[in-house]
Amino acid sequence: MPIYNFSAGPAVLPKEVLQQAALEMLDWHGSGMSVMEMSHRGSEFMSIMNAAQRDFRELLGIPDNYKCLFLQGGAIAENAIIPMNLASRLSEDKLLPGIADYINTGSWSTKSIKEARRFCKVNVAASSEPQKFAQIPARESWQLSQDAAYVHICTNETIDGVEYQFTPDVGAETNGAPLVADMSSHILSRAVDVSKYGVIYGGAQKNIGPAGLTIVVVREDLLGHAMPGCPSAFDWKIVADNDSMYNTPPTYAIYIAGLVFQWLKRQGGVAAMEQRNIAKATLLYDYLDSTAFYQTKIAADCRSRMNVPFFLQDESRNEAFLSGAKEHGLLQLKGHKSVGGMRASIYNAMPIEGVETLVAYLKEFERLA
Ligand code: PMP
Repeated sequence: MPIYNFSAGPAVLPKEVLQQAALEMLDWHGSGMSVMEMSHRGSEFMSIMNAAQRDFRELLGIPDNYKCLFLQGGAIAENAIIPMNLASRLSEDKLLPGIADYINTGSWSTKSIKEARRFCKVNVAASSEPQKFAQIPARESWQLSQDAAYVHICTNETIDGVEYQFTPDVGAETNGAPLVADMSSHILSRAVDVSKYGVIYGGAQKNIGPAGLTIVVVREDLLGHAMPGCPSAFDWKIVADNDSMYNTPPTYAIYIAGLVFQWLKRQGGVAAMEQRNIAKATLLYDYLDSTAFYQTKIAADCRSRMNVPFFLQDESRNEAFLSGAKEHGLLQLKGHKSVGGMRASIYNAMPIEGVETLVAYLKEFERLA
C-alpha cells in the first residue's frame, strides 16, 4: 500500500531525492566521505553549495541585484533578524528603530508581530483576526505608515490555510518601503515576481528540504542597515559578504535541498509545479465543497493551495477518521491544535495520486458513517 504523508512540516520529500541521498550516504561521488562529514569550505561541499544556489536562483527567477542567503535559525529566528536588519534602515546612525507595518492574517503573522515588537514600533496595518483569519484583508483597507521601514506579510498561513492570490503593491503609500514576505510554506509552489519584494524568507522544511536550512532572498540595497546590537551571524550584509559561510551553514540540509531543486527542474520547474498544485488543490476543495459532511472555513478567493484545513461536521468522529486514514496509508492529517479538525498539506512533493487517495477515503468515510 502506498503511503501518503500530509504533514505540515517537516514534510514529505520526493522519493527519488531520498533514494539518491541513501545511495550517496556513505560515499558522495567517490569522495570517500558522507556529505555530513565534509568541510564546508572544501571543494566537494563548495560544488554542492554553488549548484544549490544556482538552481534555486534559476527556479525562483531571482534577479541579479538580490542576494540569496542560506542560514540557520528557521523563520522564527528571522522574525527577530528582520527588524534587527531593517527597522533602523531610515535612521542615519542606525540607533533609532523606526516603525514597521505588519499585516496580520493568521498564527504565523501574529508570531512575527509579537517578535518584531521587541525591536521596533509595529503598526498592524490590517488584520483579519476579527474574521477568525478566514480571509486576507482587502488591500484597499490597509492603513500603511508613510514612514514604514518595511511592510511584512505572510503569503501562506500554514496553520490557518489562507494564501495571498495577489502581490500587494505598498511602495506608493510608504515612500517605497520594501515588502518583506514569509513564504515558508509555499515557496517554489507557484510563480513569484521577486522584483516586487525587498525580502523573501522561509524555513526549508515544508516545500524544499529538511529542517535546519533557512533561506533569505534580499535586495542588495537592503543590506548594511543592521542595528548596532545585531549579532554578526544575523547581520545579512556580513553573511552575504561571506557567501553564507560566515558561520558553518547547515550542510546536509543544503545538500538535500539541492537534490530537491534538481528534482524540481526535472519536473519542469515552478511553472509546471504550479499547474500541478492547482490541480491537486482543486480536486480536494471541489470534493469538500460538494458535501455538507465536511466543512472548510476559508473564503474561496484566498484558500491555500498548500495547506487545506477541513472539519468533520460531526467532530466526535475525528479520532475514527484519523485512525481509518492511517489504515489507508494517509498520514499526519490531524489539524493544528489551535485550529482543530483536519489539515491536509499538499506540498510540491505530494503526488496527485496522494490527493486522489485522500478524496477516495473522504468519500468512503462519509458513505460508511
Ligand atoms: N512561518 C510559517 C509560515 C511557518 O509555516 C512556520 C513553520 N511552521 C514558521 C514561520 C516557523 O518556522 P520555524 O519553526 O522553522 O522557525
